[in-house]
This record gives sequence, structure tokens and C-alpha cells, in this order.
Amino acid sequence: MTRPFNQPLGGNEMPRFGGPATMMRLPTQQDAAGLDACFVGVPLDVGTSNRAGTRFGPRQIRAESCMVRPYNMATRAAPFDSLMVADIGDVPIDTFNLPACMDIITRHYAGIMEAGCIPLTLGGDHTLTYPILRAIAEKHGPVGLIHVDAHADINDHMFGEAIAHGTPFRRSVEAGVLDTRRCVQIGLRGTGYAADDFDWPRQQGFRVVQAEECWHKSLSPLMQEVRQQIGDGPVYISFDIDSLDPAYAPGTGTPEIGGLTTIQALEIIRGCAGLNIVGCDLVEVSPPYDTSGNTALVAANLLFEMLCVLPGVLTRE
Ligand code: MN
Ligand code: MN
Repeated sequence: MTRPFNQPLGGNEMPRFGGPATMMRLPTQQDAAGLDACFVGVPLDVGTSNRAGTRFGPRQIRAESCMVRPYNMATRAAPFDSLMVADIGDVPIDTFNLPACMDIITRHYAGIMEAGCIPLTLGGDHTLTYPILRAIAEKHGPVGLIHVDAHADINDHMFGEAIAHGTPFRRSVEAGVLDTRRCVQIGLRGTGYAADDFDWPRQQGFRVVQAEECWHKSLSPLMQEVRQQIGDGPVYISFDIDSLDPAYAPGTGTPEIGGLTTIQALEIIRGCAGLNIVGCDLVEVSPPYDTSGNTALVAANLLFEMLCVLPGVLTRE
């Protein structure tokens, strides 16, 4: 069979530990021209409140992605038989100026939108989702949101600043880039500054599913409800790796105990199949705290799973 689309470099052509460390060993290109989907990194960590290091996230996720093979053996998804995909490198952020990064990121993603390409982002701290959503909404209008995280990230300010990794969804609601009746947050938990911290998104119309509602069970039935809530309209997936229990993903800046399992993460993402997904991100991998590389490995696999549920991806019998 001839394949008209980019293929990841196979393990029989070059050992998996060899060759350039691009995402899934895909070809690279300078911009999103001609692509259906792209992997793009945002090496940002100056929005982080506790442990830093997510600036190294995109590079480490790419390194650990070398073991991710092109077919999904559970769902039979064949993304590289279906879509033109490449790794388009990183956004050249200004690491000394976080507010300036917001405009740099929005401009960069406006170019990706212009090309008609779906971005899958390798983070980077969670601040980056706000400027991405601005670019997405410029094209699609206000979008639905599936936000998986230990934290709501709806703080009004952090240390007096409006832009930080704990504020992106407050800023996004204020900017009108979210369709708040089609937003869900999954995995929220831990300690807060006020007992009603998780009520603000509910007051905006979000569905909030705290981690305790996820304990000890499959999340496939939840995702059936989520698909009904989201409907046919455009939706963005934002996956913070700290939604997972630190047992699975210790390499992150603000870990919280009692989190999701990797199996529940797969159920959430596979449960997004059929939705009109217009962009995805995987954020908050901090390699300095990821001594085994396992957190980045989990992130690489979850990004592949996101690719597998994009519109237009065929399944093979
Ligand atoms: Mn977050
Ligand atoms: Mn978080």
C-alpha cells in the first residue's frame, strides 16, 4: 500500500533510540502549511507557581515518544493512514516576559489556524492554553472545553499577576473564547484557598467532576455524558499531566495525591472520539522532577491518543 501521508520513521529503518528526537520520529517542517495536524512545542515555565522545569517538557516528551508506534492496537485508529502530520518545532517564546509570550503564542497559533491545521501542543506550563484558545476562537468562535487537571486554574490573580499557570481559564472565560455551557473539568482535587474554589466554574456553566467522583471506576460512562454535553460544536482538549496521580506522573510542578490512573486518562481521551476536536494540549511535564522519564512517556502516549481521536482519523479492521 502506498501511503500519501508523512510516516513516522520505523524501528526497522533506524533503531528507536537513534535519529533526531522529533515527536513520534515524524518529519519536521517550518510551519503548518499542508498539514491536517501538527505537533508543536511551547517551552514555557515562567508562569509556574512552585517547581519550575516545564520549559524542558517539549524536548523530553519528544525523546520519550520514540517508543510510540503508529497504530493504536486497542481502537485500531490509523492516524498516519488518514492525516498529514508533522512536528513543526517550538514557539520562540520570550522567556523573560510572560505577558509578551501571550501575544507571541496567539500569533503563532493564528498561523496554524490559517493553514487549516489542528495543533497538538507539547507544554510547557498551563499558562499557554489561554493564548492558544484566543487563536482558536478567532477562527472557530467560542469553543467547548474538556479540561483534565487536579486544579481548576480559574484563579483571578497569582501573586498579584493576571497571567500565570493558575489563571488561564478565568482569563479565557473573560475573553469570551469559551462556550461555557459546553465546558467540563475532570479530576479536580486537593487543598484550596477557599472552600468554594471549584464553584466559580460551576457558576459560569461548566460541569465540574471532582476526582472523588472518579475514584474506583471506569470513566467511559462519564464520557458518554460529556459527549452529549459537548455536541457537534468545536471543542478543545486541555490535559494537565497533574490530573494523574503522582504515582503515574511525579514529574510535574504542583502534584496532588488521589488522582486519576493512566487507564482513566485513556478512557477520557478515547471517549472524545467523534467530537469536533479543533486543538489539544498536554501541559505541565517537568523533566527535572521526572527522574525515570515516566511522566514524559505517559505524556507522549496521551498525545498519540489525542491524535487518534481527531476528526478524519480512520480505523482499520
Ligand atoms: Mn493546570
Ligand atoms: Mn494542575
